[in-house]
Amino acid sequence: MPEEQEIQNDPYLNSPREFILEMPLYHELDLSVGSQCRKIYDLLCYSGTIDIYCIKCGKESVFDTVEYLNRTIFSEWKKSIGFDRTVYRCTRNSGHEYYSYYYKGDGFFVKMGQFPSVADFQIPQAEKYRKELGEDQYKEFTRGIGLNAHGVGIGSFVYLRRIFENLIEEAHTEVKKDPAFSEENYLKGRMDEKIILLKVFLPEFLVENKNLYSILSKGIHDLEEEECLKYFQAVKIGIEQILDEKIEQKEKKQKAEKAREALQNIHRKVAL
Ligand SMILES: [Zn+2]
Repeated sequence: MPEEQEIQNDPYLNSPREFILEMPLYHELDLSVGSQCRKIYDLLCYSGTIDIYCIKCGKESVFDTVEYLNRTIFSEWKKSIGFDRTVYRCTRNSGHEYYSYYYKGDGFFVKMGQFPSVADFQIPQAEKYRKELGEDQYKEFTRGIGLNAHGVGIGSFVYLRRIFENLIEEAHTEVKKDPAFSEENYLKGRMDEKIILLKVFLPEFLVENKNLYSILSKGIHDLEEEECLKYFQAVKIGIEQILDEKIEQKEKKQKAEKAREALQNIHRKVAL
């Protein structure tokens, strides 16, 4: 895909899951931009399954399409103005349904309702990061998710940014121990440049997608509401990737310590 098109299409149009269930409310999509109009139509017509956390089962589940756009051809839909709805049902229990409501205006498209909300299924999943983040940062993380789900762009983004910056700072503290590290270059670098300098201590995902994080370099007054809504999910995934890696490393270390202890015990017994 040419780079230009990648920039043009909204990141929430990447998959049915992102569009139908993770896109925040009131995030406006311009139908004249790139292939967005066609992409939205195709996503509304999606009739396959979606893997997502079910709040009633309390775990990841497969959801089947119950309602989707299936009676209108693209050229008609493109001209129309009005409401659309999608309904997804958990394959474990037919009573577990997720609803999304949309409005297509003249030249724009917006999600205007969702039940359960994005926060309802994202917050239970954030619970696994509670210990690693600590109580204060965990609260900020869930507050950010909640605000974003209700279409608050800048407010939600600022919470994520604080957490992200803390995690980057932790990696920076580690890398600083290396005498060859240029602190001067680091301090004057933008966020995407900082990520390159810290790459040994950061997940590959983050290093590969560093362009997304250039928005984190912007001052609060330069941030735009729509831009923040657009990039929230990607930054949230970046944060989760760092946390997943940290948790994994700790678990590995604990396992190794336990194994060492067990071996020492055996050795002691054998020695007796
Ligand atoms: Zn379920």
